Amino acid sequence: MEEKLTGQTALVTGGARGIGRAYALRLARLGADVAILDLDLESFRHFELEQEAMTADSTVAEIRALGREAAGLTADVTDAAAVAAAVDGLAADWGHIDIVICNAGSGAGKPRDTRASEVAPNLFDEVLQRNLYGTYNTCRAVVPYMKQRQYGRIVTISSQAGRRANRGGTYAHYGAAKAGIEMYTRYLAQELGPFGITANCIAPGPIGTGRLLGLYEDDQEGLNVFLRDIPLGRLGTPEDCARVIEFLVTDLADYINGAVIPVDGGAVP
Ligand code: NDP
Repeated sequence: MEEKLTGQTALVTGGARGIGRAYALRLARLGADVAILDLDLESFRHFELEQEAMTADSTVAEIRALGREAAGLTADVTDAAAVAAAVDGLAADWGHIDIVICNAGSGAGKPRDTRASEVAPNLFDEVLQRNLYGTYNTCRAVVPYMKQRQYGRIVTISSQAGRRANRGGTYAHYGAAKAGIEMYTRYLAQELGPFGITANCIAPGPIGTGRLLGLYEDDQEGLNVFLRDIPLGRLGTPEDCARVIEFLVTDLADYINGAVIPVDGGAVP
């Protein structure tokens, strides 16, 4: 792999496992030094398939094994002060932050409890905090360092659920949060383009992480519900998403700004 990012630094939120880990490892293979910000830097231990995929004791250790500098920051993206402190510390250590992938996020609750008009206020708030506010808190902390150097690559993460409402209006809190991230990203792009900073978003469909595959281990029928909407006939992989991240943070996408790129095998026409 061509080391296009040598000399650059990247911050990946939620990179301790899952798709975020794939982003972190790809950025490291491209030559970047990579920091992970997560609630628990070893959360992969709670997911059998995620644990099996690990080649070292943490994503941070895997990055170091690739010969890059790595940092592990333990913080909650919903806590603006904690994120700012972690980012300030990283910028002081590394001198610059060139790339940020705002990946931490997830839904919560069962489909039947999360219909648009019925989802409980605490659940609605929790999911908006984790996804939309988490992305905002991260960008707010990182952007001043990018502005100083007149360079930056911001990538945020939406979802198929942010582009197309689920039948029956379920998981409305997550869809609303992800749609908010898409529009927030367009606003970032408008504001920050003059500073040499781009902001783009990817919107994955169902991605076969160890966590998701573990959930559906004995439920082929449940998986078929996803598959029937995917023209390419398979779930996405973390690598499918990581390849698009590579595109967005390297020179290939120098003139792409404010875009939302679906990574869903054509599930959302
Ligand atoms: P996972 O839930 O498997 O991993 C997310 C990581 O982010 C975990 O390490 C998690 O920590 C961490 N995290 C969660 N909340 C916070 C927080 N408040 N502060 C800091 N870190 C946090 O997610 P995926 O890898 O599946 O997904 C990654 C991103 O992609 C998410 O934004 C998700 O919404 C999005 N996405 C995923 C799809 C999929 O099919 N997997 C499809 C479409 C979008 P912990 O485990 O300790 O909670």
